[in-house]
Amino acid sequence: MNTNLLTHADLHCHSKVSDGTLEPEALAARAKANGVELWSLTDHDEVGGQQRAINAAKALGLPYVTGVEVSVTFAGRVVHIIGLGFDHQNPALVAGLRATRGGREARARDMAAGLAQVGIKDAYEGALKYVGNPELISRTHFARFLVESGHCQDVPEVFRRYLTEGKPGFVEHRWARLGDALRWIQEAGGLAVIAHPARYGFTPTEEFALITDFIGHGGRGIEVVTGSHSDAEAAKYTETAIEFDLLASRGSDFHSPEESRTDLGQLPSLSGRLRPVWMSLEDRIFWPSCLQ
Ligand code: AMP
Ligand code: MN
Ligand code: MN
Ligand code: MN
Repeated sequence: MNTNLLTHADLHCHSKVSDGTLEPEALAARAKANGVELWSLTDHDEVGGQQRAINAAKALGLPYVTGVEVSVTFAGRVVHIIGLGFDHQNPALVAGLRATRGGREARARDMAAGLAQVGIKDAYEGALKYVGNPELISRTHFARFLVESGHCQDVPEVFRRYLTEGKPGFVEHRWARLGDALRWIQEAGGLAVIAHPARYGFTPTEEFALITDFIGHGGRGIEVVTGSHSDAEAAKYTETAIEFDLLASRGSDFHSPEESRTDLGQLPSLSGRLRPVWMSLEDRIFWPSCLQ
C-alpha cells in the first residue's frame, strides 16, 4: 500500500481525551463516514487516546497515523506543533507531554480566580464538568461552562470577552520549548508540523523566525489546508511551504459537532504543487490488514 493516490487525509482533530467532545471511537466512525482516507487523532499535549484510535481505525478499515498537538511558547506567544507518525509509547515523549500538561490545573484555578473577580463564580468546578481527562483542563472547557451558564452565546464569544490576553480569565502560561517539542516527537520516530500558522498573528519577521528555528530543530511540515484557515490563508501558506521546502499537511481541527465549523475531512484538497506530508509517513501508517 502506498500514499501516491491518497488525497483525502485529515491529520488534525481532538477527542474527549483533550478538548473535543467525542470519544476517539466516535471520531474514527465519523472520519470513515465522511470519506477520510487517512486519519490522525491529535489531542493537545496527550497521547492517551492513541491506542483507542488505532484500534477503532483498524476495525473500520481506516488507515491511521499517530498524532499529537503540542503547546509551545515561542517568542512570548503560544504556537502549536503537530507530531505525526511517532511511537506513542516512547517514554521521553510521554514524559515530556506529561510535564507540558502539568501546569494546567494551577492555571485553571488562577483562571477561575480571575473570572470570580468579574462575578463569575465556581468556574473551575463548572469547567470540570466538561473535562474528559483530569490532566487536561483547557480554556475550551471554561468556554463551554460560560455558554451553559448563560454568560455568553457561544464559545468564540467567551474567548473574545474572557479568555484571551488582557481579559479577566486569561492567565499567562509557559508551555514547552520549541526545541524540546521537536526532540520528543522526532526521537519517538515522528515528524513535526507547524499547526495553523495563520492563527498566531505574527509579523513577517516573527513568522520567519518561527519557521527557520523550526527547520533548524529538524521540523519538516506546515499545515496549509486547515479548518482554521480561510481560502486566502491556505493560498498564502501554499507559497510558504514551497518557499521553505516544507511538506504540506491537511486537517480539520475538528473538536465538536456543535462547535466546529469544519467537519472531519470536509476540507479543500492540497494544491498539486505541494508535497503532502503523508508521502513521508508511508512506513509509519497503520494500514488496515485488508489494504496491505
Ligand atoms: P488552551 O490549550 O487551554 O489554551 O486552550 C486552547 C484551545 O482553545 C484551542 O485548542 C482551541 O480549541 C480553543 N480556542 C482558542 N482560541 C479560540 C477562539 N478564539 N475561539 C474558539 N476556540 C478557541
Ligand atoms: Mn483545542
Ligand atoms: Mn491548535
Ligand atoms: Mn487543534
